Amino acid sequence: MSVTVQFCGAARTVTGSCHLFQTGAGRLLVDCGLFQGPKTLKALNYSAFPFQPTDIDAVLLTHAHIDHSGLLPKLVRAGFRGRIMATRGTIDLCSYMLPDAGSIQESEVVMLNRRNAARGRVAVTPIYTQADAIDSLNAFHAIDYETWFEAMPGVRARYWNAGHLLGSASIELEFAGEGAGGKPLRVLASGDIGPDAKLLHSDPEAPTGFDYVVSESTYGDADRPSMTPELRRQHLAAEVRAAHAADGPILIPAFAVERTQELIVDLVDLMERGDVPRAPIFLDSPLAIRATEVFRQHSASLDSKIDLDRLLRSPHLRPTETVAESKAIAKFTGFHVIIAASGMCDAGRIRHHLKRWLWQKSATVLLAGFQAQGTLGRFLDDGAKAVRIQGEEVKVAARIRRLDEYSGHADGPELARWIAARRPIGRGVFLVHGEEPALAGLSERIAERTVPAAKVFIPILDDIYELTTSAPTPIDVSRRRRLAPEAVVALDWHNDMSTLILDINDRIEAAADDRARGVIIRKLRRALEARD
Ligand SMILES: [Zn+2]
Repeated sequence: MSVTVQFCGAARTVTGSCHLFQTGAGRLLVDCGLFQGPKTLKALNYSAFPFQPTDIDAVLLTHAHIDHSGLLPKLVRAGFRGRIMATRGTIDLCSYMLPDAGSIQESEVVMLNRRNAARGRVAVTPIYTQADAIDSLNAFHAIDYETWFEAMPGVRARYWNAGHLLGSASIELEFAGEGAGGKPLRVLASGDIGPDAKLLHSDPEAPTGFDYVVSESTYGDADRPSMTPELRRQHLAAEVRAAHAADGPILIPAFAVERTQELIVDLVDLMERGDVPRAPIFLDSPLAIRATEVFRQHSASLDSKIDLDRLLRSPHLRPTETVAESKAIAKFTGFHVIIAASGMCDAGRIRHHLKRWLWQKSATVLLAGFQAQGTLGRFLDDGAKAVRIQGEEVKVAARIRRLDEYSGHADGPELARWIAARRPIGRGVFLVHGEEPALAGLSERIAERTVPAAKVFIPILDDIYELTTSAPTPIDVSRRRRLAPEAVVALDWHNDMSTLILDINDRIEAAADDRARGVIIRKLRRALEARD
């Protein structure tokens, strides 16, 4: 018999998490996430899965984030008829997040087709619609933490708190009779791991003694100063006071789920204590408003020291559900708080607010989470002087600030400790879900110290490994790859292109006069027409 794993996503990238486990008896997926960031990766969302959806027996979902769950509606639409196992918290969040993702797909395609029509290209259809997403919710099946269940014949599974998000889990898998000497083959898929001392959650946990551990690496190269909830609030307060002193709004591009609720809890608390000036906190995201409701419903299962239910009902909080209410925020001047999705600024209402405020010195943008390569948030974080939003160039004069303390992810030392606590690990550790420096950073932290360096593997998209051998054996997939390995790793040309256009604009604008501008343009034209 044999057990293989195929890394169908989040292998040398941070998004699109999806691992396919195959045995003689069937196939199961851990996660089925959407690719985000560079256009080359996003294009994969539109192309066929690297497996037959009708052949998949079950999906085990680690948590509700779209980069882990966002292709489930596509999977169901393509003929998957099994069950999607998830915790109750994950199901409640997905019941809002997936339909929201469906409507984003629909509106992105409307814009894309407008551009395609102008260039005489054929129209594309959405990856899936809101209706597909609602339909996929019927496949969900609730799982309790720390309780074994049969995932498919010959495979049992158990969920452990991953401390990353409401309902988040690491998944323990046992393949009956496939380990050494006829024992079960034991595998642990980390999902995303939360940091120690996170607001709302207890620290991540999982059992010990595995053949394989598949671990995320998002912040594998980061070593954050150790954090307490009190210290985190103080840092937030300092940012809010500075924004108030600049007499403009503070725009927080927030991940609608969890980060938003953590920020609201702390902002309301700071305002109530008089540690920061009081002002309206606009919650400008229908999804974040729904998610806030889910958090209130689950408040009993979250941190008992925080009165989540009361704080999330604060009169300071102004949910703006409709487009008209959202537009009315633009009338506000002076200090106020706007929390809007998406967290990486690549979609959602935050883009309207950025267009309105980025060019003004009085405004503050507070980036409160991971910014993937190729996203608008990453360009801002990298100090871009101008960016493109909805086809228009916008100068950046606002104060761009960054607050890492609200990360939902463990840092390098915390991830290394989490892996070490799973020992003994007999055959190998696969590092996934990270950009190159993060993967290298985590690999360095665990190689030799935690497991022999030869047992650390960093797969690339679509790699397949045989797991029943004494060490993981790669299977030749050169003919089956969806992307060349270098295309997975490199920042793609679309990003180089936007940077080039912005640089050209900068140079032309900075030129002394129109004559000088003409010279630059002629030189560029000559370079363009030169044969290489
Ligand atoms: Zn996540």
